[in-house]
Amino acid sequence: MNNFTKEVMSVGEMASGAKLTVPVYVFETENNSAPSVYIQANMHGAEVQGNAVIFQLLELLQHCNLQGNITLVPYANPVACNHKNGEYTLGRFDPITGENWNRMYHFDQSVIAPFAQQYLDASEEEIADKFQQLLITEIDQRLEHNIWGITTGQRIAYQLQRLAHQADIVLDLHTGPISSKHLYCPEYAKASAEYFDIEHTIFIQNGFDGAMDEATFCPWWSLQEAYQDLGRNFTMGKGAFKKESFTVELGSQEQIDLDVAKQDALGILSYLQSQGVIDNKQYQPQEMTRYACYLKDYKALYSPMGGMVDYLGEFGKPLAAGEPLARILRMDNYGDGEALHYVSLEQDVIPILHFASASVNQGTELYKVFCNYFEL
Ligand SMILES: [Zn+2]
Repeated sequence: MNNFTKEVMSVGEMASGAKLTVPVYVFETENNSAPSVYIQANMHGAEVQGNAVIFQLLELLQHCNLQGNITLVPYANPVACNHKNGEYTLGRFDPITGENWNRMYHFDQSVIAPFAQQYLDASEEEIADKFQQLLITEIDQRLEHNIWGITTGQRIAYQLQRLAHQADIVLDLHTGPISSKHLYCPEYAKASAEYFDIEHTIFIQNGFDGAMDEATFCPWWSLQEAYQDLGRNFTMGKGAFKKESFTVELGSQEQIDLDVAKQDALGILSYLQSQGVIDNKQYQPQEMTRYACYLKDYKALYSPMGGMVDYLGEFGKPLAAGEPLARILRMDNYGDGEALHYVSLEQDVIPILHFASASVNQGTELYKVFCNYFEL
């Protein structure tokens, strides 16, 4: 049975002096020849299923044949986690600045070109080593040596990012509002998407918008491109550039289901097995039809009007052009106008998630759907 260590990481202080803390669980292996892994959950307050998945992973990993180190961080954002209003958890945005908690990670593109120049002829091992050190130093500089300070959200994000930069594989566990399971996957890691037991994958390119998955793969991807410009070719996902990172969307917010979490954990173990992080052949991907689309084809549909929504589109099931996705009830129009308005699209789509409430304003994001989807 594998032992894990548990530490409590301090990520900030409240007005009263109360400490903001995050639990950090670590499995360390002696051989440590395989990629190392970092998994976090609950950066957005209402997206709690990942905590249950980490519970199941902690249970299962104790009995796995570990080949690489694994760090697990539930309750990654203690402010968001405790951000209640009435019976609901909010916690998608910092209540003070309005900024999305998952847009506060750090990446400074300007470090890439000078690094590639300096280490143009270095060995792959040295590049991997020195670049990782650089990324960690960048974070340390901001956390420890910055007299102007950083925001509450940045302090939380950077502390987590310092852990993530030490790993080769990063999984950031989220959920949608009311949602099917889906996976954000960098294009170069396409082959890995088939190991998760998730039916929908969104392929993303090398663009940094402040999210954890991007903060992990963008620096390495940009470095690989910089080397390419200088005539030295590396492959993303291989050798020194063996870095993969995913945002795993585990269903709907505001709920945990421990049985589903066990299935989610088994899917993650299947992926870790495929990467050699564990040596347990019983963890294999489930047979399922996996659909994917590119990020540009993962589209939001904004409500054409205010009203009360009856969501009709079934998650994960292709919906033919012209079929109704939702109907919007307008009781103010009953008797002298249209009380029901049907919403449909002019192309085939797969509904992935919808807004969490039935009452919407004109312009509320009603659905997110796959367009131009294909089978993996
Ligand atoms: Zn989220």
